[in-house]
Amino acid sequence: MRAFIIGRFQPFHLGHMELVEKLTKEYDSVIIGIGSAQESHTKENPFTAGERHLMISNSLESKKIYNFYLVPIEDIYRNALWVAHIEAIAPPFNQVYAANPLTRRLFQERGYHVITPPMYKREVYSGKEVRRRMLMDENWEELVPPEVAEIIKEIDGVNRIKEISKTDEVQ
Ligand code: ATP
Ligand code: MG
Repeated sequence: MRAFIIGRFQPFHLGHMELVEKLTKEYDSVIIGIGSAQESHTKENPFTAGERHLMISNSLESKKIYNFYLVPIEDIYRNALWVAHIEAIAPPFNQVYAANPLTRRLFQERGYHVITPPMYKREVYSGKEVRRRMLMDENWEELVPPEVAEIIKEIDGVNRIKEISKTDEVQ
């Protein structure tokens, strides 16, 4: 059995890690969709699909987890075709894990059984909280796998998110 999950992973954090690790133990393999793959260099989506790909693969491989596939998925802005768009580019899967109500609905309408994944320490393990801490010079490293922190440092990610959050307008 192959499971499918999707997130934007901006960035990949320890909540994502807990979930993926659990699914790789329960299923033959896990297909991880990197959503909004075309987005980067914005406050909500600072990292490119390639950077996110590296964050996830380095974190999982450091734990000797290899039974996963990473599939970048660009937005198509047509909800009625979104699941078909995923099916056209991802390895086939039997089980979907999704928490977002729209995502759940779209998969269910295409006949998939959708399981609500458990959330781990959601108050702090969230992409939004990691990005907030980066902007505020707070401890964001403790919320992500060490491999993710390393990549963000390598690409100067904290300065990137700080700079793109500024404006050239008079405040
Ligand atoms: P953002 O705050 O940027 O929306 P996020 O933390 O919600 O980021 P996403 O990239 O939106 O993460 O990915 C969403 C999916 O990741 C959710 O549907 C959920 O399955 C999983 N997820 C997010 N946070 C956690 C968590 N703390 N524990 C387990 N799974 C999580
Ligand atoms: Mg989210």
